[in-house]
Amino acid sequence: MTTLAEAYKILAAVHVPTYEVLDLLQDARCRRLTPESAARLVELAVERASIAAIQLLPVVELLVKAQAAQKRAPKITLQLADGSKLVLKLVGERSTKPGTVTVTDGGSFESGTFYGRIYSNGTVEESRSWTPEVETALRQLAANPAVVAAQHGVATGSCCFCCRPLSTKESRSVGYGPDCASKYGLPWGDTTVADEAHAAAVEAQAAAIETNLKATFAAIAEKRKAADAEHQAAWHPRNDDPLIDELAVSPARHSANTTFEQSKGRYTGSRRAGD
Ligand SMILES: [Zn+2]
Repeated sequence: MTTLAEAYKILAAVHVPTYEVLDLLQDARCRRLTPESAARLVELAVERASIAAIQLLPVVELLVKAQAAQKRAPKITLQLADGSKLVLKLVGERSTKPGTVTVTDGGSFESGTFYGRIYSNGTVEESRSWTPEVETALRQLAANPAVVAAQHGVATGSCCFCCRPLSTKESRSVGYGPDCASKYGLPWGDTTVADEAHAAAVEAQAAAIETNLKATFAAIAEKRKAADAEHQAAWHPRNDDPLIDELAVSPARHSANTTFEQSKGRYTGSRRAGD
């Protein structure tokens, strides 16, 4: 039964008990496991452990920061692609697991969907309702809270932190209000996320134009070089021409030493007195 021990070890490494594997382990205690089912068990443990290893510490930190700044329990309401809600809430001292973040659809305890829980160290315990869409949304929020919050605000017209409608033009363009920005430690005002995104877009465009220009200039230079070479080959004497050698050896004879008078004389046939 070394494989069963492996499954235990994998789960213990991430400190998160997961119901499905635990159920199977419970089963395994009651009956003899075939090698196939033991292997499946290890596979499941690895799968569950990888979900538990998702690092969502920034999400927890975001909510803990807000808790220090406001009385009510901090909450983030996002929207999944299918239009359903995704609500993250930092649970209080009176809960059975204080300091953890519940991930739900915002419904009541009886009728709502409980997707899972994020522990204070950022690891996840998923429930049976956990979906890849939930996972993606949480990963995006952890990676860039300001952008996700802004996208929600721009798309829905309400702040994902306090759920109030975004009343001013500025708030609507940023995607969340100034109060929530300061509570959750997100940028707002002079340097808004929208500005940063715009600046990044402009920079990218400028870089693209420059690359394009460089390519165009290089192509023109290449064409000119080819045309020059063609012209040279068609109209100019080759390097072994004796005239070229003569010019290279004493170019002065053909230029500076030939005075205006001399050249005039040459053409007119007249000579100066004394010559
Ligand atoms: Zn707000």
